[in-house]
Amino acid sequence: MKVVVIGGGFAGMAAGIALQERRHDVVLLERRGVLGGRATSFRDAVTGDDVDNGTHLMIGAYTATLDLVRRAGATDLLNPQENLKIEWVDDEGATVLDCPPLVAPLHLLAGLVGLRVPLRVKLQALRLGLAVRFGPTPVGLTLAEYFRRTGQGPAARRLLWDPLALAVVNESPERSAAVLFHRVYQESFLRDHRASRLVFLRRGWGVLLERLARYFEGRGGVLRRGTLVEAIEPEAGRAGGVRYVQRARQREELQTGRAPEPRLEPAEAVVSAIPAHALIPLLPEEWRGRPAFAALGRFGRSPIVSVEMWLDREVVDRPMLGLRGCEIEWVFDKGRLFGRRGAPQHLAFIVSAAYRSAPKKNVELVGAAEAALRRYFPAMAEAKIERTLVLREPDATFASTPELEALRPGPGTDVPGLFLAGDWTDTGLPATIEGAVRSGQRAAERVEALTGRGPGVVPDSAGPRSSSEGDAEP
Ligand SMILES: Cc1cc2nc3c(=O)[nH]c(=O)nc-3n(C[C@H](O)[C@H](O)[C@H](O)COP(=O)(O)OP(=O)(O)OC[C@H]3O[C@@H](n4cnc5c(N)ncnc54)[C@H](O)[C@@H]3O)c2cc1C
Repeated sequence: MKVVVIGGGFAGMAAGIALQERRHDVVLLERRGVLGGRATSFRDAVTGDDVDNGTHLMIGAYTATLDLVRRAGATDLLNPQENLKIEWVDDEGATVLDCPPLVAPLHLLAGLVGLRVPLRVKLQALRLGLAVRFGPTPVGLTLAEYFRRTGQGPAARRLLWDPLALAVVNESPERSAAVLFHRVYQESFLRDHRASRLVFLRRGWGVLLERLARYFEGRGGVLRRGTLVEAIEPEAGRAGGVRYVQRARQREELQTGRAPEPRLEPAEAVVSAIPAHALIPLLPEEWRGRPAFAALGRFGRSPIVSVEMWLDREVVDRPMLGLRGCEIEWVFDKGRLFGRRGAPQHLAFIVSAAYRSAPKKNVELVGAAEAALRRYFPAMAEAKIERTLVLREPDATFASTPELEALRPGPGTDVPGLFLAGDWTDTGLPATIEGAVRSGQRAAERVEALTGRGPGVVPDSAGPRSSSEGDAEP
């Protein structure tokens, strides 16, 4: 079957690969020259380092994503922790959640025992764990309300849950849907101790996406970059393909000043793997009021702000550190994560749900990062900042409120031949890479159902393979 996939982020790549593995004819159209959408990277022209559009983490519970990476032969790019270890620093020094390799959730309990927080916070944390394990799913509640109902006091929230929740759902507990945190807690902390460990990349995210693209194209998939889809074309009441323009690639083309000619890509099925707000203008007027699309305009967006900083010496002595009481919540030593130590030290700072930080001037954001380093690292007194970059992602994730949770659509629509994927669809997960990948794979399964062949991946031997395939498990 001929399928067009719109969008070259994780959802689109996962859908495209799943369909290609099932031997459909897939054309994947991405408006930008680079792949990855909201999880991408570029090569910094000055330092030569990979710079992510914002530091992304995976966890061991990202089963679909890690399996996709394995199938594409890209596990050499993964940099997983042995066991879950998260460190924070505050004015009293560092504290660490260091979980040994015990059966879940004993690993978490052991980590909690060693954490430098008051005993009552540990007991409250235990109570939350029991509520997640044995209590009802908190449908319709905000996370703040769930914390209140499970007896989490201000110290437990400040020291443990709020920083974790912000990182997981990119929204304050007062606004975010409790079910998302609940689901992530279950999948990561309660199943297998390896599910909770953090998985970094050894290179920028764009590099991983290129490897996925190579795998997709190696199996016969067609990938067109710089291709802006302008409309999903109706044909006899179903999705009959897309109208797109190929953006100018060469300066000479730009200099002609001519608008690119719209082209038609006919298809038997279309998978939209773009954000909700980007889908609305592509729909014909007559479809916009349909139940599957009526809520698209209600998806709010939550920003993330990052500061990249290069220092003339090594100041931060860990790969990742929570910065308590600072505007900037986390710092990552990108050099160390990418396998390079010493000067210049490439650091990345991140602020989630950055509603207050995003409108600030670059100089203020860099100042906040510098202040955090001066507060917690004496070596910063001697250090010189060599270069900084500020990256804003105003639409980093959808704003995950309880009301919105009820509106997230599934992969099917009431337009025959049109399917939805993307982190914002009803995956049960927050806006994450894993949610995006699962959504893409689920949309592919729905397309497959049209053929009546049922699910199932064509065995690896069925098509050309990428040259680096066969790496070990992460
Ligand atoms: C700074 C930042 C930090 C994050 N941190 C994490 C993290 O630590 N862990 C985690 O799991 N998740 C994290 N996320 C969230 C994660 O990046 C997203 O959930 C995920 O990448 C979404 O993938 P997607 O494919 O659904 O959408 P997108 O990545 O948005 O992909 C959509 C693609 O469609 C393309 N497109 C749009 N319109 C058109 C059109 N008309 N024609 C053709 N192409 C089009 C876009 O260019 C884009 O490439 C973070 C996000 C940001 C921004």
